[in-house]
Amino acid sequence: PPRVVIIGAGIVGVNVADELIKRGWNNITVVEQGPLDMPGGSTSHAPGLVFQTTPSKTMSLFAKYTIEKLLSIVEDGQSCFNQVGGLEIATTPERLEELKRKRGFASSWGIDARVITPDECVKLYPHLNKQLLYGGLHIPTDGLALAARSVQILIERTRKSGTRYLGNTAVTGIKQSGGRVTGVETANGVIEADIVIACAGLWSVEVGAMVGLSIPLQPMAHQYAKTTPVPASAGRNPLPNGANLPILRHQDQDLYYREHGDQYGIGFYGHRPMPVVAASLGPTAKKVTEHNMPSRLEFTPKDFEPAWKLSQEILPVLKESEIADGFNGIMSFTPDGGPLVGQAPNLDNFYVAEGVWVTHSGGVARALAQLLVNGKSEIDLTDCELSRFEDIQLTPSYVNETCSQQFVEVYDIIHPLQPKESPRNVRVSPFHARHKELGAFFLETGGWERPHWYESNAKLLEEMPVKFKPAGRDPWAAKFYSPIVAAEAWRTRTAAAMFDTTAFRRLEIAGPGAVDLLDRLTTGNVSRKPGVATYSLLLDQEGGIQSEMTISRVLDDLFLLGVNGPTDFTFFSREARKQNKLGNGKFVHVRDITGGTCGIGLWGPNAHKILSAVSADDFSDSALPHLHLKLAHIGGLPAKVIRMSYVGQPGWEIVTSAENGLRLWDSLWKAGQAHGVIAAGRSALASMRLEAGFPSFGSDLTPEHDPYESGLEFLLHPGKEGYLGHAALQGRSKDAVSKRLRRLVINDGRSVVLGKEPVFHKGTAVGYVTSSGVGYEIGKPLAYTYLPISLGEGAVVEIEYFGRRISATVVPEPVHPMKTDEGRV
Ligand code: FAD
Repeated sequence: PPRVVIIGAGIVGVNVADELIKRGWNNITVVEQGPLDMPGGSTSHAPGLVFQTTPSKTMSLFAKYTIEKLLSIVEDGQSCFNQVGGLEIATTPERLEELKRKRGFASSWGIDARVITPDECVKLYPHLNKQLLYGGLHIPTDGLALAARSVQILIERTRKSGTRYLGNTAVTGIKQSGGRVTGVETANGVIEADIVIACAGLWSVEVGAMVGLSIPLQPMAHQYAKTTPVPASAGRNPLPNGANLPILRHQDQDLYYREHGDQYGIGFYGHRPMPVVAASLGPTAKKVTEHNMPSRLEFTPKDFEPAWKLSQEILPVLKESEIADGFNGIMSFTPDGGPLVGQAPNLDNFYVAEGVWVTHSGGVARALAQLLVNGKSEIDLTDCELSRFEDIQLTPSYVNETCSQQFVEVYDIIHPLQPKESPRNVRVSPFHARHKELGAFFLETGGWERPHWYESNAKLLEEMPVKFKPAGRDPWAAKFYSPIVAAEAWRTRTAAAMFDTTAFRRLEIAGPGAVDLLDRLTTGNVSRKPGVATYSLLLDQEGGIQSEMTISRVLDDLFLLGVNGPTDFTFFSREARKQNKLGNGKFVHVRDITGGTCGIGLWGPNAHKILSAVSADDFSDSALPHLHLKLAHIGGLPAKVIRMSYVGQPGWEIVTSAENGLRLWDSLWKAGQAHGVIAAGRSALASMRLEAGFPSFGSDLTPEHDPYESGLEFLLHPGKEGYLGHAALQGRSKDAVSKRLRRLVINDGRSVVLGKEPVFHKGTAVGYVTSSGVGYEIGKPLAYTYLPISLGEGAVVEIEYFGRRISATVVPEPVHPMKTDEGRV
């Protein structure tokens, strides 16, 4: 096994060592700057509440495994998890609705949870003030991690298996050679390694900087206080730190609670954000104590005043006590709240597992160990990938601002489409001024401002035929939505629309080795003549879908790719570096050209007339068939015109360089006026791609499913062998899968769900909604879900939405928009 160095003996680092040992790796050194018996990081003072249920499947599964693992770490007959259950209370009607939605997530991810009445809450938790309650969510398997104890037991256990621990030893530098990590530097010399894993918690930024890696993480102080003994709790718990009441979350006031014997522990997120620079904390002392550790800052009682008042309202028994001891503990936040897991884009074999709560520590550690040992984690890591951020999102000011917002919102009710408040207008397309003139409603993704619909299209609502008129929505589904979306879909279907596709990620892959690279990694046939595009999958070595993409051959050794995100760029770049090292003349270069270019999707039955009006080039079906590319002149500008569409209407994606963008938009817009062109937004695109039968990566398509399960087997080029994931697919087929991506139509014709809701069949949860929307032409809401193979076409299932069951029927999948003969030459 390779020599591994882990930086940090907090709950993450120690669990990573343990999970690697379990998988047979035994040459591991853990280097910790603090003393091993109490290293002084966040784990040393974590109160250890583990609430499992979140909208993220990945995070919930991490939490589930963490509990399983903590329960299995037993010493002196006592495990490291006190399964007291979890109670989240609602003190507003909105929160009660949110808890119903959360119960849905719990069902989707296989966690038992129940929405309960105020009476039931008080029965479970007698100290609660019933007057304030609307209800609660009870999760019997939640509870308290004995985090620091589990670390000590795991240190002993892994030591016995040969892991070396170096306490009071700070890593001061990282050694590298030829783009690979080779070891770490300490005051006592260099420790050589084949793989280095940073589990440095709130010190991550400093460790990343040692290799020029920007870690988008902001340490923030978070207040935690213990009360004096509470008379009403006297004798409840024999152990000083014991607890038997459920862990309690009062999210309407940013508060959480646990028992410490007869004292209460109170955590508060309602204070001002207090960012911390880890480097300012100085070196960790040789001896750390509970009250003197680097991750513990001086308590600021003024910030805690509202928490104390609110706590006495919800738990009146606290009126008989006082604050005994408080501190401002430091924990890590990231711009989107998710952890950072994976390999550094700029240095091979340097991995990180950071921004991880105790709650997810076991799950993250197992995932990383699986990634290292088997090449893939069984839980989808897409949302945790270290490389998921755009460059702009790595700047310290962006990280600071977004993490502060994460801190403020940590317990808020967040709509799935809710955008950041700030920073906004970070990245705008060249058409931005036009979008604003047309009254665009913008939402933000990856720093990009993306129009979701245009107020200027409101007038179309009157012209629109009744058939397209959408039914009214419930208040939740109506957020970040406008009926104008339906009008935009109607116009795209019946005339033409211009969609801004600038934020779609574009890569250029160039050089004599470009064909080899793409051929080796993707499922399609890329060795075709210039001018042909392929819709193709990128699989992982287990055959799971790692990404999907369009690959257009522009010149013999130049390809234009439409991919999904920064992770694709990181992946192709790493593979290109590997290939270039072979020195066999098959040199290849990968460039992300998203920022310097822009795109317009011109789609609809009148698209051809519009394009012909501004270009002398021939865009007829015979001159430019489906999935073909042409270097053309549009309105006097050079552009790449690719015949493809995501909306089930004919047309092109037109790509040009950014400085030409505004003129391109204006010339198409002008020519389009005679043909009814409109500007249409992301919301129309999202619903139309669903209606057209185009599953989307990240929701419908994930590494957890292979092409047979996802209904994309037609993208495995017949006869092609040896590409990444090909071997794993051997023996599998469409007929041998146990589940398959299915299309559902909502039977009442009006109930819109938003995604991740559980799907039931005969009362049993059998899947969850991967994506959803309204098919405006069909006139009914649609959803995708993976279902057991026995639930084929015609099967009737129920989707749970805010506690309500909505009937839906499995319907046939339309022909995939990319599935044409031309596309598969
Ligand atoms: P740490 O425990 O900080 O470990 C990182 C280690 O790396 C440290 O020991 C550090 O000394 C070492 N290190 C760093 N740099 C170097 C270097 N250069 N060389 C050598 N060693 C280095 N989470 C929950 O799930 N539930 C809760 O209820 C909860 N409550 C919390 C309450 C408070 C007040 C706080 C502050 C946090 C809370 N958390 C909670 C968060 C949780 O404590 C952390 O997310 C978790 O402990 C992080 O574990 P870690 O191993 O990543 O980091």
